[in-house]
Amino acid sequence: MNPLLEDLRREAAPFVDIRRDIHRHPELAFGEHRTAALVAEKLRAWGYEVETGLGGTGLVGRLVRGGGRRRLGLRADMDALPIEEATGLPYASCHHGVMHACGHDGHTAMLLAAAHHLAARGRFSGTLHLIFQPAEEGGGGAVRMIDDGLFDKYPCDAVFAMHNMPGLAQGRFALRDGPTMASSDYATVTVAGIGGHGAIPHRAADPVVAAASIVMALQTVVSRNVDPLHTAVVTVGALHAGQANNVIPAAATLEISVRALDREVRALLEQRIKAIVAAQAESFGCSAQVDWRKGYAVLVNTPEETDFARQVALDLVGAERVTLQAPPLTGSEDFAFMLEKVPGSYLLIGNGDGDSAGACMVHNPGYDFNDDNVALGAAYWVLLAERFLAAA
Ligand SMILES: [Zn+2]
Ligand SMILES: [Zn+2]
Repeated sequence: MNPLLEDLRREAAPFVDIRRDIHRHPELAFGEHRTAALVAEKLRAWGYEVETGLGGTGLVGRLVRGGGRRRLGLRADMDALPIEEATGLPYASCHHGVMHACGHDGHTAMLLAAAHHLAARGRFSGTLHLIFQPAEEGGGGAVRMIDDGLFDKYPCDAVFAMHNMPGLAQGRFALRDGPTMASSDYATVTVAGIGGHGAIPHRAADPVVAAASIVMALQTVVSRNVDPLHTAVVTVGALHAGQANNVIPAAATLEISVRALDREVRALLEQRIKAIVAAQAESFGCSAQVDWRKGYAVLVNTPEETDFARQVALDLVGAERVTLQAPPLTGSEDFAFMLEKVPGSYLLIGNGDGDSAGACMVHNPGYDFNDDNVALGAAYWVLLAERFLAAA
């Protein structure tokens, strides 16, 4: 086994405890007060200079060593999800309806274990910025931190982030350069018609029929407008209209989720959806309003930094445990916004596959972070930091 990994395994126990403590006390987006205070206290005790309250509940720990000029950013996320935990674990959530179902408790613990090792025994020369962000789950905590001056106050030559992945064997890493996670945009469509008696439809303009037709027509955006070699998702996740079988309602609403893996497709989806909604509504004598909300950007890993991150994984666990160019995902991640400012890479660490407990998918009430990754993920961060900020 890699000697660094052996060291981190020996040091892991208190960080597994921290992981389970955070798991027991999950906090939703921008409410990560306890978690942030715990992280800040540890970092300060180990000699980091810490700024809290960046982007709400975010914080940065800074450690400068030697005369090296390079500056590295490592990011972990801290927020939980509004899910009722069903694991039955002894350290299960003590907050009703809130759960660490995406493993951000583990990401925080991995980065803390690395922070401890780097402060105590790290051989590096340069500036280390450990970024603990709030609100990854849809709240855009990364954007809030950037708007609060994250990279102005703590400039980085590269940033890296790591997410656990159920379905990928524990002990494996998966990397990818280029577009890796999808953009996510949201639209609320309000179809306005003319309400009336269910028995006298010709005196009404029925928004239910218009909305139903819009749902079907939207299926052609991906199948007929997007290049078949590109990726896109258009999902109508909610459709609300009416109360009674003999009343034609005056309005209907649709909630739409839209994903793409490049900027041109993302723009095309918006343009086509708006055009189809307007034309369909009009053809039924209704009108439609689209409230379009831009979500997370496409996450694009830069080639040079991804190559660097690949080499770290290869040296830590060997070629048989590293996927060098994994397929992209249609999920979204607000680390995308950090990568719009600074080159870097976002990689996956296996949480377990097959019948193992770690194979349960994230955002599932039965999910749990694999504690074997506290040492492995920390060893990865330490090796990456020592390489990136190599002492002369
Ligand atoms: Zn998640
Ligand atoms: Zn997550």
